Amino acid sequence: MEPIEQKILNAMEQAIGPATEMVLLHRPYLPPSAWEYVKECLDTGWVSSAGSYVTRFEEELAQFTGCRRAVATVNGTAALEVCLRLAGVVPGDEVLCPSLTFVATANAISHCGAVPHFVDVSADRLSICPQALEARLQETVSAEATGPVNRQTGRRIGAVCLMHCFGHPGEIDAIVKLCDEYKLPLIEDAAESLGSYYQGKHTGRFGRLSAISFNGNKILTTGGGGAIVTDDDALADRAKHLTTTAKVPHRWEFHHDAVAWNYRLPNINAALGVAQLEILPKILNAKRQLAERYAAAFASLEGVEHLSEPSDSSSNFWLNALVLSSANSSRRDQVLEVLNGAGYQSRPLWQPMHHLPMYADCPRGELLTTEMLNQRVINIPSSADLAPNWMSTVQ
Ligand SMILES: *Cc1c(COP(=O)(O)O)cnc(C)c1O
Repeated sequence: MEPIEQKILNAMEQAIGPATEMVLLHRPYLPPSAWEYVKECLDTGWVSSAGSYVTRFEEELAQFTGCRRAVATVNGTAALEVCLRLAGVVPGDEVLCPSLTFVATANAISHCGAVPHFVDVSADRLSICPQALEARLQETVSAEATGPVNRQTGRRIGAVCLMHCFGHPGEIDAIVKLCDEYKLPLIEDAAESLGSYYQGKHTGRFGRLSAISFNGNKILTTGGGGAIVTDDDALADRAKHLTTTAKVPHRWEFHHDAVAWNYRLPNINAALGVAQLEILPKILNAKRQLAERYAAAFASLEGVEHLSEPSDSSSNFWLNALVLSSANSSRRDQVLEVLNGAGYQSRPLWQPMHHLPMYADCPRGELLTTEMLNQRVINIPSSADLAPNWMSTVQ
């Protein structure tokens, strides 16, 4: 019988054709308008942290997501740090978050002087499992005058940070309910989920504030960049002020009224964002078609599953993921070896946060599903231009 890695390779070829050159995990598509807008920045000299593309990008992003406001930032990690701070996280707090995430989630929490507290995820969505969160809250949290406190560490719990993994929305309703019950602000790490909807509403609209990333590998890229989105005007104003050095507007005076950040997104980067927002619906459509191809190619293959979108959601399918069956859980590295060797760039999950040296001693609940998924999940090439008829779609 053929080994699983060979079967997966055959299915890959069937889904997206032969790899004549290295098929990257995720590469950006920059439309012709990107050249035009960047050229305008160069021609006019508006390349830095002031300029009209920043405002335009913020307005159009708010419109696309349905959030009242968007504040552009230098990257997604910075956006998430500001979200947490503005939600009231202070040094010495703990923030409940998944261990199964990109390191930026835990880093943003740490930059607030807070400590990540890891909660397990559910196997079908790869994001915080409401039952695991509830169990953890029941086990460890007492209601004190200052807010919910972890009885075991004595630290206040400052927030819950929900990450929508690979663009698949998490179980938002159940998480929101727990946050309400325990009086915890919800922050969404929506870094990967631009264009993903939960029950018809864009991700990032459920938290008090949410962070999006426009890093080079994300569904929309500004080279590097991020945004804070929120429906709260006062918080948005505060976010804008604090990410732009807290300068009080004046024609010539440099007066600043708070310790603040320079987390501004340069205009030249925002120009790239404006250009791609114009074709984002086409990108999303292509990503869905590609995911359907993969789903069809892997449907009949035993021993591995293509991760599908939750039935209550519409996913952006940022990264397609395969999940090996338990019988094949020891074969992850062979699969990665064969796929990468054949020219299909593929990778495992990020190492869980509690496996990393700086986060090994953080408080955590049982992380059985996180450990299980860590053995079995593989991301496969997911660029929009791999979709059938991409070039005719995008023109
Ligand atoms: C990409 C990403 C971030 C951070 O974004 P940067 O723009 O790279 O700083 C945060 N969280 C998650 C889950 C991400 O995937």
